[in-house]
Amino acid sequence: MTREQAYQYGVRKLENAGIEESKLDAWYLLEYVAKISRADYFSDSQRELAQEQELLYFLYIEKRAQRIPLQHITGEQEFMGLSFFVNESVLIPRQDTETLVECALDLLKRQMSEKGKMPITPVRILDMCTGSGCILLSILYYMKEYAPQSEIEGTGADISGEALQVAQENEKRLGLEAVWLLGDLFSKIEGRYQMIVVNPPYVRTAVLEELQEEVRYHDPRIALDGKEDGLYFYRRIVIECREHLEKGGHLLMEIGYDQAEEVSALMQAAGFSQVKVKKDLAGLDRVVAGVYDRCA
Ligand code: GLN
Repeated sequence: MTREQAYQYGVRKLENAGIEESKLDAWYLLEYVAKISRADYFSDSQRELAQEQELLYFLYIEKRAQRIPLQHITGEQEFMGLSFFVNESVLIPRQDTETLVECALDLLKRQMSEKGKMPITPVRILDMCTGSGCILLSILYYMKEYAPQSEIEGTGADISGEALQVAQENEKRLGLEAVWLLGDLFSKIEGRYQMIVVNPPYVRTAVLEELQEEVRYHDPRIALDGKEDGLYFYRRIVIECREHLEKGGHLLMEIGYDQAEEVSALMQAAGFSQVKVKKDLAGLDRVVAGVYDRCA
């Protein structure tokens, strides 16, 4: 079978299965199996696929037709321009979450360039509910050019040991160093941090049932379920994190598009100041950030 025939077969099969982005997904899988670029394809679309490639392509198309996410088939997702290993133990990194990373990077760079206001080094950053580690590791990766690795100490915490294994694999792949802690929210956290970033589970339980199959059945439910009103983890985090923030430390949290008001109110009630909401590229509220000026 030629590359073109395989691709056409893939598109048809995915279309029939009702997969929204059938062309794109059929393409990605072909690219993955045959290790070719778009340019390779267009310059020689009539080239025959090797037999193992053909079999593998059919198998992957079949899996995708059964709504297994593309990222679980290829084992990777790009985030902040970096390639992250993923499996069913972690939430697949979303582009929306890049907003949180960008806010954190802006803040850190600003602090580091403000003479005299140099934070205590090493700067300790905690990524609570780290999952694949994509938030913490992207921050560490992009801070490398601003500060020696020894000046930034990153910790990722999660309640899932399987998730932390994925995070550790990503740490290795990206050649970074971080500390990983297993536990329920702050139960295993010691000491104080200058910055805490969190993308907690925030989907209301009732809404989970309305999500597309790929998310509903293949992303880990504990990474999504924010319980009845979606705010369960925010309520705990804004209180529990205070013992682990330096005076003037920052808390940055991803939120659902309709949670800005409630989460901002929770932060203010917990004693945070300068509470701000940041929007994502789609123009939706996506991050709430604030400063803790006291010391609990
Ligand atoms: N943004 C994710 C989604 O739409 C939810 C992420 C989360 O709960 N932290 O599926």
